[in-house]
Amino acid sequence: MTEHPAGATSPTLSPPYDADVLIIGAGPVGMALAVALAGSRQRVLLIDSRQRDAWIDDPRALALSHGSRQLLERLNAWNAMAGTPIRQIHVSQRGGFGRTMLSTEDYGTPALGYVMRYRDLAAALAARIKPEQLIDQCSVDTIETGREETTLTFTREGTIHRITAKLIVHAEGTPERGPEITVRDYDQHAIVAEVRPASGHNNRAWERFTPDGPLALLPLGQDYSVVFTVPPVKAARLLKLNDENFLAALQEQFGKRLEFVSTGPRAGFPLALRCRTQLAQRRQVWIGNTAQSLHPVSGQGFNLGLRDAWELAESLFDQSDAGNPTALATYAKGRQFDRRGSIAFTDGIVRLFSNDLAPISFARGIGLLALDLYPPLRHFVAKRMIWGARAWP
Ligand SMILES: Cc1cc2nc3c(=O)[nH]c(=O)nc-3n(C[C@H](O)[C@H](O)[C@H](O)COP(=O)(O)OP(=O)(O)OC[C@H]3O[C@@H](n4cnc5c(N)ncnc54)[C@H](O)[C@@H]3O)c2cc1C
Repeated sequence: MTEHPAGATSPTLSPPYDADVLIIGAGPVGMALAVALAGSRQRVLLIDSRQRDAWIDDPRALALSHGSRQLLERLNAWNAMAGTPIRQIHVSQRGGFGRTMLSTEDYGTPALGYVMRYRDLAAALAARIKPEQLIDQCSVDTIETGREETTLTFTREGTIHRITAKLIVHAEGTPERGPEITVRDYDQHAIVAEVRPASGHNNRAWERFTPDGPLALLPLGQDYSVVFTVPPVKAARLLKLNDENFLAALQEQFGKRLEFVSTGPRAGFPLALRCRTQLAQRRQVWIGNTAQSLHPVSGQGFNLGLRDAWELAESLFDQSDAGNPTALATYAKGRQFDRRGSIAFTDGIVRLFSNDLAPISFARGIGLLALDLYPPLRHFVAKRMIWGARAWP
């Protein structure tokens, strides 16, 4: 995609689309913004590079915070049947002492969080969007930002089209490298799979830190959604194993507290921290993974992106001009605290827990013991899982 200054020439095209807010990317964050703007002054259009409903094949399951459940309920997009409550989280490290347990009874909420397949979350949001609001299978060619509006051109089925909008919202998911993006490659890949335990999960999630990276087991239906984090070479090997050998590798990494009996298909995701330095520019704003992509260890990514969408919708709801620079600057400033806190929390956990140095392993053990023995510290971590930024004093 290339950007042109105002006044640069671009092809003249049909049909003439026109919107106040044009969202690029109909993933869960882009769709959440569109739903949150329903009933506002803004006419909203979404465009996506993939086929409509392509998310049906996404293999991920997401841990959603209790706060996200509340926001999705307000959007009428909470799929209660598809969410499995997490009532306890057991945190430990392989080959070291120290462990802690977070339990829902301590926090007065029905659950610490919920686990839901990406596709069920996306389906609930898509059901709130009018079919004519989404143009799928688009390849964005150019974006021209002018003083009064922006013009985007895209190609669909060999034809070039133009859309004018007051504001372009970028929600295209994880960005590539670029001058605006800072990247920290974790040299880890996440292997995801749904795995059946020999006995029930009792709504307990497990977070086990290993020298390869964190291993998370999230209760989902009768199964665990597994996020098995390992170096890239090991990930390639794990993806090639037959089911029996994969289960054996998982068992070895996790230990003997649970027994795994069968597994569904596996998929791999490379992991890095990617942050955009500026969230808003003239008539453009960035939300969700395109603004910041985090390691999945603390299950913050979508939860943070949903708060981006929610707060942007609040800023735009009554604006006569959706690209109002003051509103965009206020939005971008308002998001800094939440995003910096979430990035630091997640990045800190990955870096502290993903190595095998003896002194650090000892310090981790002390940290886990402290979490267990010192309730305010434990409550802080639990509240971050439940509420996100509202955990901060
Ligand atoms: C293994 C793994 C586990 C995770 N676990 C959790 C978890 O437990 N909890 C949590 O909160 N988060 C988790 N996340 C993060 C979560 O998946 C993301 O934060 C979330 O999907 C971001 O949503 P999004 O809509 O911003 O981006 P995406 O989900 O990536 O959607 C982007 C959309 O934009 C479209 N698109 C892309 N490029 C273009 C383009 N050029 N033009 C038009 N459209 C485009 C795509 O087709 C897609 O529909 C996890 C991530 C991974 C990899």
